[in-house]
Amino acid sequence: MLNIELGMPINIVGPCAAESEEQVLQSGAEAKRRGFKIVRSSLPKPRTRPGWDGVGTVVGAPWLAKSAEINGIIPATEVINGRDAHEVINEMDKIRGAKKLLLWIGSRNQVHWLQQEIGSAIAGVDWVSVGIKNPMGPDEKHWLGVIDHLLSAGASLDQLLMIHRGFVPNAPDKNGLRNVPNWKMVKSVREISKLPMIIDTSHIGGRFSQVLGMTKTVIENDLKGSIRVDGLMVEIHPDPKNAATDQNQQLSWMTYDNKLSQSINGWVERRKLLIPA
Ligand code: PEP
Ligand code: MN
Repeated sequence: MLNIELGMPINIVGPCAAESEEQVLQSGAEAKRRGFKIVRSSLPKPRTRPGWDGVGTVVGAPWLAKSAEINGIIPATEVINGRDAHEVINEMDKIRGAKKLLLWIGSRNQVHWLQQEIGSAIAGVDWVSVGIKNPMGPDEKHWLGVIDHLLSAGASLDQLLMIHRGFVPNAPDKNGLRNVPNWKMVKSVREISKLPMIIDTSHIGGRFSQVLGMTKTVIENDLKGSIRVDGLMVEIHPDPKNAATDQNQQLSWMTYDNKLSQSINGWVERRKLLIPA
């Protein structure tokens, strides 16, 4: 289990990408107001095809640190390599008071040298955690292998958590999902790794209606005990229609309030009463 207080369940909300300082600060405030501790706003954006690459860590890391300081939240972003990780950690290190940071390795980042650089950047920095997204293809060994690359570079097990974002389907999915979850693998990876398992229902769903349905299904299954998970990652943007990335799948805060907050709040309350299995 994690040595830092990420909460339980470990819910992560916020926009796909950091777009401006104002958007990052607003997202932090909106999330905090609804009781969330961890707020994503990704600085680099690896793309399937050439496009906007994100603001990057040099420009955006100070925004995340500012939101952490002003809103008292734990910022979260993807990092591609050791330099990215150092830049975000250095900015966060400047803030006053207690600090916590969540980095993650994205599904397209399967280069083990880069993973090791990130492992080495967080070595001994116990206020930083790293989420490991599953690779694009359904390969359990590769997903678990990232844990070993991070550990081999000096990261410790209690800094790590797993994130399932589904696998790219070979043909359009019959249920219209963007990426297809593999619940058997989720169970097995959670059992083998003994690490917290977060479900990224946004990248599984791909469209906001699917994201809502998938999030509720995951919560119901966790409460029934049929698929145990430890948290959710849900993309929520202040203005999804004009988002720079993933317009179709990001919820607005209004949609969150009207259509999802009840299930998530209910789940958080129920999980407090359940002994994590
Ligand atoms: C993301 O979280 O915005 C993202 C790009 O995720 P993935 O690496 O799972 O595609
Ligand atoms: Mn996204």
